[in-house]
Amino acid sequence: MNVNQSAPPGPPYGQPQPVYPGYHQSSYGGQPGSTVPPTPYGASYNGPVPGYQQAPPPGVSRAPPSSGAPPVSTAQAPGGQAAYGQFGQGDVQNGPSSTVQMQRHPGSQPFGSAPLAPVVSQPTVLQSYGPPPTNTQVTAQLAGMQISGAPAPAPPPTGLGYGPPTTLASASGSFPNSGLYGSYPQGHAPPLSLAQGHPGTQPPQHSALPQASSFTPPASGGPRMPSMTGALLPGQGFRGPPVNQPNHVSSPPPQALPLGTQMTGPPGPLPPMHSSQPGYQLQQNGSFGPVRDPQPNYGSPYPGAPTFGSQPGPPQPLPPKRLDPDAIPSPIQVIEDDRNNRGSEPFVTGVRGQVPPLVTTNFLVKDQGNASPRYIRCTSYNIPCTSDMAKQAQVPLAAVIKPLARLPPEEASPYVVDHGESGPLRCNRCKAYMCPFMQFIEGGRRFQCCFCSCINDVPPQYFQHLDHTGKRVDAYDRPELSLGSYEFLATVDYCKNNKFPSPPAFIFMIDVSYNAIRSGLVRLLCEELKSLLDFLPREGGAEESAIRVGFVTYNKVLHFYNVKSSLAQPQMMVVSDVADMFVPLLDGFLVNVNESRTVITSLLDQIPEMFADTRETETVFAPVIQAGMEALKAAECAGKLFLFHTSLPIAEAPGKLKNRDDRKLINTDKEKTLFQPQTGTYQTLAKECVAQGCCVDLFLFPNQYVDVATLSVVPQLTGGSVYKYACFQVENDQERFLSDLCRDVQKVVGFDAVMRVRTSTGIRAVDFFGAFYMSNTTDVELAGLDVDKTVTVEFKHDDRLNEESGALLQCALLYTSCAGQRRLRIHNLALNCCTQLADLYRNCETDTLINYMAKFAYRGVLNSPVKTVRDNLITQCAQILACYRKNCASPSSAGQLILPECMKLLPVYLNCVLKSDVLQPGAEVTTDDRAYVRQLVTSMDVAETNVFFYPRLLPLTKSPIDSTTEPPAVRASEERLSNGDIYLLENGLNLFLWVGASVQQGVVQSLFSVSSFSHITSGLSVLPVLDNPLSKKVRVLIDSLRAQRSRYMKLIVVKQEDKLEMLFKHFLVEDKSLSGGASYVDFLCHMHKEIRQLLS
Ligand SMILES: [Zn+2]
Repeated sequence: MNVNQSAPPGPPYGQPQPVYPGYHQSSYGGQPGSTVPPTPYGASYNGPVPGYQQAPPPGVSRAPPSSGAPPVSTAQAPGGQAAYGQFGQGDVQNGPSSTVQMQRHPGSQPFGSAPLAPVVSQPTVLQSYGPPPTNTQVTAQLAGMQISGAPAPAPPPTGLGYGPPTTLASASGSFPNSGLYGSYPQGHAPPLSLAQGHPGTQPPQHSALPQASSFTPPASGGPRMPSMTGALLPGQGFRGPPVNQPNHVSSPPPQALPLGTQMTGPPGPLPPMHSSQPGYQLQQNGSFGPVRDPQPNYGSPYPGAPTFGSQPGPPQPLPPKRLDPDAIPSPIQVIEDDRNNRGSEPFVTGVRGQVPPLVTTNFLVKDQGNASPRYIRCTSYNIPCTSDMAKQAQVPLAAVIKPLARLPPEEASPYVVDHGESGPLRCNRCKAYMCPFMQFIEGGRRFQCCFCSCINDVPPQYFQHLDHTGKRVDAYDRPELSLGSYEFLATVDYCKNNKFPSPPAFIFMIDVSYNAIRSGLVRLLCEELKSLLDFLPREGGAEESAIRVGFVTYNKVLHFYNVKSSLAQPQMMVVSDVADMFVPLLDGFLVNVNESRTVITSLLDQIPEMFADTRETETVFAPVIQAGMEALKAAECAGKLFLFHTSLPIAEAPGKLKNRDDRKLINTDKEKTLFQPQTGTYQTLAKECVAQGCCVDLFLFPNQYVDVATLSVVPQLTGGSVYKYACFQVENDQERFLSDLCRDVQKVVGFDAVMRVRTSTGIRAVDFFGAFYMSNTTDVELAGLDVDKTVTVEFKHDDRLNEESGALLQCALLYTSCAGQRRLRIHNLALNCCTQLADLYRNCETDTLINYMAKFAYRGVLNSPVKTVRDNLITQCAQILACYRKNCASPSSAGQLILPECMKLLPVYLNCVLKSDVLQPGAEVTTDDRAYVRQLVTSMDVAETNVFFYPRLLPLTKSPIDSTTEPPAVRASEERLSNGDIYLLENGLNLFLWVGASVQQGVVQSLFSVSSFSHITSGLSVLPVLDNPLSKKVRVLIDSLRAQRSRYMKLIVVKQEDKLEMLFKHFLVEDKSLSGGASYVDFLCHMHKEIRQLLS
């Protein structure tokens, strides 16, 4: 067996390893350039992951730092228990301090008896956990109308109340008593960067414990509620003024209509906001809260507000009758807190059920037996033991899995294990792969499966003795016995037709109809391909890519090219019978780039010329995909098609489409048809593609409706990507297109893949979301799976779970690497199980929850009216929070909204999903835009959905000019904007630079090289390169933001009060949206009302 990973000399893996050079870029797992299995793997197994090396040598204590116990399951009595039993207490290393403690608390009830009858059980919970205010309770009496001082004067002890506080403090070091993303303990100064968005008054959040957030919405039960409801119900009027999506909509939006009147804020005795901006229309949110300087923390706090950053003092009551936006949970604050609390130490995966740091926190991961959160994130790391509990809580149990995720250079990619001809060791019954949770028994001769409890024989060649704890003595020499993630070399049994695969191929298929030629696309693309072909993905240290390439051009007929190296010139073959597509040549169609370079270059030079005078406007589409797929089939390989397409395929051919865009369907029961494909042709075609391992990436350049919902079917079902450049013009869009193209072509991809998620008894995977195809209920088939693609998996109970043994997930991905090697990538994750609902709520991850809920809703629009989908989301959210309130929160006034600490952002984020373009489009969001976004979100990981739904807004001139760190973000609301400042806003797809009207002239000069605000070109997409610190800083920041995202974000400069500002405001998601989406404050009030209804 071997692992060819770079190996630091010496233990713990015992053998030296070949170093390997270029993992982190575009190779799989950092394997060296082994191309032919299995020979290259003969030599050296071994090689610990860097993080791994830091563990003590075997036998000493490979355990999670704070306990002496081994990270991997050890011998407890066979019987499937045990594994992590010994980590129960005090074993917390940079994990959520509360987790483990609570589970082990003596007060927790025996399995099965507890939590289901709320009235009975909850008091028990509370009693056993001590006095309410200290733990589950109210951390903050964020009274909207009145901040009640409850916790502040008498801050609870620093512990969480589940035991001696000291335990926690010592266990978690740097964040003594905070909860997961909690607020500050008493006497803990808020980090400097926290400022914005932090409650301007001193809500007890500062001083209280973080288990829950509560506040009293204004006029609870009072007059405001009805109006809230009216405003929030989807589909009731509010076809507001258009809202645009700059990157997929071409024309600037019309002016705003007057704001809807239903969204009544409290009639304000409020001074107008932004009085310094004449003509600046007051936004809805202005009605809430006292008038403030947009950036309270940056100076001039509003009258009466305490200074930011000061120690929490006694709360300062606000004027009544208003819900202060500063007093409701702030995404910015939560993100900052987590960065400060959890960004400094590595996340070590040895402890079961640890909630990882947020996706917005930079942290390193050390694999000690569970998969890194870069590969798997869960909605909760402590799942209810019974389905009754799960139903009561309504918290979806889901995992967001990114099997081939990129890792930072500091983290080693999964080791490749070679078990030789016998292949990976698996459970005979459930077929789970060998993993750290398997229990070896009978002196090592047998092992009990941790998933199905089946007892299996250990094959002689795999036998090893056990130590006195029952652990194999070679456990730390074998990745599959000690790590959460690793790969197995697959044997021929895992290959199609019992034959090792050939290296994959890329086929470039270029629309050469009139629009494509006229826009300059074809010339640009052909020029770019000449150099891009040198950067095809390659394995490890391979000198050249094993991927072969082929070329097709098309309009309503297809042109194939023979680019065989022996030819002096490329040869074209035309296929006009698009109804019965075949590939006219085999030899010379798919070639090695280096061998055929001259011919390829010649072809790419000729294509733009050949079609320069074309008058052909019609295109076909399905036959193009068919041709590519047939070519791969003929070559007996998997691969990827890169399609560059401009128009609705109306030419006579299979898959011909008609324009069926009809905006009148919006808000009707037929709206769902806009998201459904208009013909079944593409599903059928996709199925054939999947069978061939043919993944399709689609680049669209539409000037009008092209029916993205139908064209994206094949990419969607084959694990491909869709890119859309509306009204493409070379001068405006080439940077974005070329950047996306380069990244897409170079991306590491696994081909012809099948993913299976196994679970231990008690739960099973029941639903899947993402870009893939399923022909049965368990196997996720992916013609291609790249490093950015995510699959979200939902689990349901099919039996009781056990607190002791927890729940296990194993994701196995079988795929063909870029070099044609067949591999299995395994990710394992152990979760805790609970009999107390409070434990569930304490270990949730809201960002992951939102990822799941958005995908669920976005799929729902295919079958249900959009309004129903929205209403269901709201109901589910209310049920989740009501269940918490009823079962886990201490008794308190009905007027208080109490949110679990881990879910305090659920309302604000959910509101962003509700008013997203798919679920509540503005008038200028096209049908294609909605289908496009819907498709994109389906494959997003948690970090991407997080920033997509709640954009980052970064002030540029407030932080020191020489500061190299990203400026702290501010909340996405207009009232946070200062007209004397400049901001960047990004959501992973769009990037704006907003310039306030009163920005200093020097700043304008430094950034734009013009003399005044009025001279700045609105809509500018490139900043001039100027030699001054501010210009450099802003350009560096923009580059860094782009580098963090999987797609290129085109910059749009927006001037305050300019017409383009409407685009920008669409992303200020805490405000009421022009399409009728509620403001955060209003939504929170509405949510509170829903919760109260459920409770009464
Ligand atoms: Zn099994």
